Amino acid sequence: MLGLMQYEQLMISDFIVHAARHHARAEIVSHLAEGIHRQTYRDTELRARKLAQALTRLGVKPGDRVATLAWNTHRHVELYFAISGSAAVVNTVNPRLAPGDIAYIIGHAEDHVLFAEVDFAPLVADVVGRLPAGLLRTVVFLCAAHALPQVDLPSGIDVVAYEALLEAEDGDYGWPRFDERSASALCYTSGTTGRPKGVLYTHRSTTLKAMAMNAADACGLRAVDRLMPAVPMFHVNAWSLPYAATIAGTSLVMPGRFLDGESLYRLIEDERVTFASGVPSVWLGVLAHVRKIGARFSTLQRMAVGGSACPESMFDAYEALGVNIIHAWGMTESSPVATLSNPVSGVDPATARRQRLSQGRVLFGVDLRATRGSTEVPWDGETSGDIELRGHWVATGYYKTPPGTTPDGWFPTGDVGVFDANGFVLLTDRSKDLIKSGGEWISSIDLENIAMGHPAIAEAAAIAAKHPKWDERPVLIVALKPGATVTREELLDFYAGKVARWAVPDDVIFVDELPHGATGKLLKSELRARYADHLVRAKTPGASPD
Ligand code: AMP
Repeated sequence: MLGLMQYEQLMISDFIVHAARHHARAEIVSHLAEGIHRQTYRDTELRARKLAQALTRLGVKPGDRVATLAWNTHRHVELYFAISGSAAVVNTVNPRLAPGDIAYIIGHAEDHVLFAEVDFAPLVADVVGRLPAGLLRTVVFLCAAHALPQVDLPSGIDVVAYEALLEAEDGDYGWPRFDERSASALCYTSGTTGRPKGVLYTHRSTTLKAMAMNAADACGLRAVDRLMPAVPMFHVNAWSLPYAATIAGTSLVMPGRFLDGESLYRLIEDERVTFASGVPSVWLGVLAHVRKIGARFSTLQRMAVGGSACPESMFDAYEALGVNIIHAWGMTESSPVATLSNPVSGVDPATARRQRLSQGRVLFGVDLRATRGSTEVPWDGETSGDIELRGHWVATGYYKTPPGTTPDGWFPTGDVGVFDANGFVLLTDRSKDLIKSGGEWISSIDLENIAMGHPAIAEAAAIAAKHPKWDERPVLIVALKPGATVTREELLDFYAGKVARWAVPDDVIFVDELPHGATGKLLKSELRARYADHLVRAKTPGASPD
């Protein structure tokens, strides 16, 4: 027998409608190049409706993918709601990727319309030159008409100013309702190997996730909070926080492209931020600035930190400044937050501290296990296993790729960890061969392929080495061909123009031979065990770098 309760499809547009109606005066503050911009949620919803009308005029149909290359600003929030709310799919593209990867993503997603920041004009020109002819119809620069940049694009591509698009519309638009399982956003991740892979969220997954994020033992946003997401909206929807904020009526303070420690600290203070989120390297930058000027935080109370492991020293330093860190873990494939480290009662202080420093406990709505072979490992705080996930906001696979879950429906994360008796998970290793530097992925395979293209190299492996600022940096380990010579500098120069500058390895280690397993596969785990501390050791005066 069915119950007698009202039923509606879960729609992302409902978040902004709710915010406009019940938190009309809560605001979005954006740090733009021209200064601080403010607008209310009521204005934001109206502008999103105008944008939805404009999208229709640009020929965007339900299910079409629309690309953004944008910083965290009110305009990006409008794009999130207008694109998804009008039944199209917002494809947020990471501008820090190499132009070839950006072009791959836009081509793979088949985006016909691209919204881009003015400062990305040269990047847009480079990327468009790599796209199949005729794919892109319109580039909209996120600016007023008078600020439209000069950019040389092939004929047939319209270049428009965002504000001019909105000015042409009256906002007389009704948000459509449709199947809640419809795609809402498409984010590409480096996944495990090879080309970026698309994770396709739905209205339903996003709604459930955003509501779960607002639970008290998750991020627990409130209408009195002022949230600064320093995690980019081009990376996994800024951990769903812009969605969670509109549901809670929390004001958003958007840092734009100003992500250095000094700018973030100023914005936190000037805009009375109470909650912030981002990767550790960003908060290390803020901490360095705060220490330099001997300041404290007047309003900041809590901070969600994730994307890479939060260093213990950083946790303590912020606690001493009166800021409580919530350590969070997840991945693009899990929208991303799956666990958060909030305290539990009834444990001794040492356990409480260990738990706070761990990656945390799972949110209701997803489940987590660690396995060895096909068996789940015990929650004994010692036995490690491969972490797998399932739940309402976990991907079944990648866009245009066969399903990626295990036969019983669990998603392999590529992370390795242990559970304690309370279900807190501590990540101990990563089985995927990727390097995560300052929150950005670097493909070890790409680095190895380039090294292998050098005439002196017999075999190469790129691994993640620990780094005090960037968490991980790539280090290349190479064996030379008999009789061949190449210096460290020559090899590093060989990467110029082949990968983004920040993806070039920090160091090269020359060995006679690389270790291999029984099937002839490179034993990356052995190399990680041997060289993970290479950069830390090399920086200690007097220590010899392996
Ligand atoms: P992404 O898909 O780019 O969000 O990256 C997800 C991956 O980042 C995870 O599978 C982990 O390897 C890593 N990661 C995310 N959060 C944490 C964390 N709190 N501690 C350690 N690693 C993390």
